[in-house]
Amino acid sequence: MIGFNAAPFVGKEFEYMKQAIDHHKICGDGEFTKKCKAWIEQNTGTAEALLTTSCTHALEMAALLCDIKPGDEVIMPSYTFVSTADAFVLRGATIVFVDIRPDTMNIDEKLIEDAITERTKAIVPVHYAGVACEMDTILEIARRHNLYVVEDAAQGIMATYKGKSLGTLGEFGCYSFHETKNLSMGEGGALLIREQQFIERAEIMREKGTNRSKFFRGEIDKYSWCDMGSSYLPSDMNAAYLWAQFEAADQITAKRMSIWNAYDEAFRDYGRFEVPYIPQECQHNAHMYYIKVKDLEERTALIAHLLSHDIRAVFHYVPLHSSQAGRRFGRFHGEDVYTTKESDRLLRLPIYYSMKPEETAYVIEQVMAFYGK
Ligand SMILES: *Cc1c(COP(=O)(O)O)cnc(C)c1O
Repeated sequence: MIGFNAAPFVGKEFEYMKQAIDHHKICGDGEFTKKCKAWIEQNTGTAEALLTTSCTHALEMAALLCDIKPGDEVIMPSYTFVSTADAFVLRGATIVFVDIRPDTMNIDEKLIEDAITERTKAIVPVHYAGVACEMDTILEIARRHNLYVVEDAAQGIMATYKGKSLGTLGEFGCYSFHETKNLSMGEGGALLIREQQFIERAEIMREKGTNRSKFFRGEIDKYSWCDMGSSYLPSDMNAAYLWAQFEAADQITAKRMSIWNAYDEAFRDYGRFEVPYIPQECQHNAHMYYIKVKDLEERTALIAHLLSHDIRAVFHYVPLHSSQAGRRFGRFHGEDVYTTKESDRLLRLPIYYSMKPEETAYVIEQVMAFYGK
């Protein structure tokens, strides 16, 4: 069976996790957490990176830092993972969904301005498949309307827009290190902060509302409760796993890229379905290879064909605005021209670090067998 995903493992993870345990420092902000934080800051150029327990929690921290209050509105695509919306719904926000562009499956930047009201507080672009949204336009709209930009860059590590790392463009950027992402720690994430003014409050919110981070750095002689917050620190054992992945980040990306390119060479001019579009200004990270077939019926038949040949291909997302919670907490602004239609025909092919070239070749062969070559 060729699974859809396998957690990335490069070999050093056990050694580093053992080191974390031997140091008797397995809670948060230990040696490996610090190394990972420094790696993200050096590799992306962000002012501050805070390792978190998930991307969902990084998004929750961003919602807290944007001071989202009941009744505030937040603009995002409906074609995204539930956490993008949930983090803001927890603060009482109303979600305003706008349509996506069919070429990148990202939020259509041209539809954002019309969705802005007196209550709008933030725009949340989601960089689908590690391909950036049209950020110059989005940042310009946000500047003119005085809105926060929170990037859901869960799939975007090591990808860039006009040479800048995804997650560093808005006030806040959120990465995921879930096992389905390019670089992993099982469950985990990071909050990237662009401006100095938010850093101290973010540190406090991540440490249960206390200034314990300052205390551990020796900057104060006792710590106390300062603000609202929660427990968003991952264990240093998990950070040790991530550190092994960061050390091998180029190798992991190159491997994923070779799989992505093998699919693309086979399918770009194949003509039976659509393949991903990468705008000139975007460097992607081979997070995902998807195809868009004729319709839902064709997709269902293709999935069944692949499964009967021991290949698991998957789809996502059920558009949030059509879900029970989406209807309760949000509304769709404008017309759903592409969100539902395009999501119904998108299929993700297996892509993961340990995938063998012959497995990729077999997936290509079986997709083509379905279409009768
Ligand atoms: C994976 C993902 C998340 C959630 O990440 P977790 O680390 O599992 O919380 C959020 N948004 C998008 C777009 C994702 O792909």
